[in-house]
Amino acid sequence: MIKHFFKAAYLRGKWEHQVLLTIDPEGRIDNIQTDSAPGEAIQHSGYAVPGIPNVHSHAFQRAMAGLGEVAGPSDDSFWSWRKVMYKFLGQITPEDLQAIADQLYMEMLKAGFTSVGEFHYLHHQPDGQPFGDRIEMSRRLAASAAKTGIQMTLLPVLYRFSGFGSKEPTEGQRRFIQTTDDFLTMVSLLKSADFGSADVAVGMAPHSLRATDLEQLHALNVALTQDMPLHIHIAEQMKEVEDCLAWSGKRPVEWLMANVDVDQRWCLIHATHVTKDEVIAIAQSGASVGLCPITEANLGDGIFPINAFMEAGGQWGLGTDSNVNISLAEECRTLEYGQRLKHLKRTLIAKRGSSNGKELFDQALKGGSRALRPLEKAGLTEGAFANFVVLDGEHVALAGRDTSSMFDSWFFGCGNGLVKDVYVRGTKVVSDGHHVYEEGITKRFKTVMKRLAGNL
Ligand SMILES: [Zn+2]
Repeated sequence: MIKHFFKAAYLRGKWEHQVLLTIDPEGRIDNIQTDSAPGEAIQHSGYAVPGIPNVHSHAFQRAMAGLGEVAGPSDDSFWSWRKVMYKFLGQITPEDLQAIADQLYMEMLKAGFTSVGEFHYLHHQPDGQPFGDRIEMSRRLAASAAKTGIQMTLLPVLYRFSGFGSKEPTEGQRRFIQTTDDFLTMVSLLKSADFGSADVAVGMAPHSLRATDLEQLHALNVALTQDMPLHIHIAEQMKEVEDCLAWSGKRPVEWLMANVDVDQRWCLIHATHVTKDEVIAIAQSGASVGLCPITEANLGDGIFPINAFMEAGGQWGLGTDSNVNISLAEECRTLEYGQRLKHLKRTLIAKRGSSNGKELFDQALKGGSRALRPLEKAGLTEGAFANFVVLDGEHVALAGRDTSSMFDSWFFGCGNGLVKDVYVRGTKVVSDGHHVYEEGITKRFKTVMKRLAGNL
């Protein structure tokens, strides 16, 4: 048993003082005592908060960060960005993917994310042929999880069609296309694979309604066990809504709810363009929504009606999606600022009299945990994983502040700089703002980036 002592820690939605945390050899919290004494424990000068789950990532896209910002000859949109992305992914080898994911997951940990939902569709070789080991690319992602220490929920993607009505895929999509049978074989290979020291849970991800059909959605729902989450991109773009309406007479979420049994294991990624009725239907189904505010702003997706969703009892988590910039604080800030710019008001996510930062943190923890590991406990509580972040008590952003404004100071007045130490399953992976393997990881990433840049 290892013990940690904090002058304050955020437990079950409340700040407690003089906190003694005992961690078992499996990396779970065995016991928590408040108003305690340090005894032999490791003593921290900062404040402990639970690590936040990052529900949605495409690791390879980290290598494109900042590359989609040159104005084209006509209007730029998600779809023109996607062309750049397809060109880019054609180049990536398994070694490249691992080097990129090492850098990315390290950055996530340094931002306060302690687990990641990897929505993984880069399955095949550049010519579309499967690798000799069908789960080669998944193994690379798991190796990055092992190296950096982040907890992973691997969400292998079923991608079969290029548009509504079972349109055949395009050339640019050949690295991810597979049949339902091949996909389910891949899922069982992943569930039985030995990923060494990596902590990897496995879920499923039909890419979107445009990339799968009803029969496939039913097949995946049947194969889904109680501990597995199922994620799907939905209603991110207006074009997708219009195409779905033209094809079925229904909007994407409306069609999904009418045709498929959606429950609390489901996580709808983006769900940006939804009506009031769709918002209520999602909340009532128990599904969570995976919001990716930085990416949604970067790609010009739109703004999710979060207040109506929360009023209906809906749960949501945060994802970094295209990984253009890794910051938990900025995801929270962008989510709130999008609402402000739309509604011309302030403090829109918090309930009256409460703190915006605290509300954002609580929701991202609760909804995010459910979206990645539906049966696990969330936060710093007995039985949960000992995933925690130590915020720097000496940081200038906290001068003269107490715990009541901690999350607001972090998200609105600072950023990643407040994250001092990070522990996953009780193991220290970030120390004083640096990852324990930072130098080697960044060196390798730079080498890969130079080679990829030369091929673009
Ligand atoms: Zn995505």
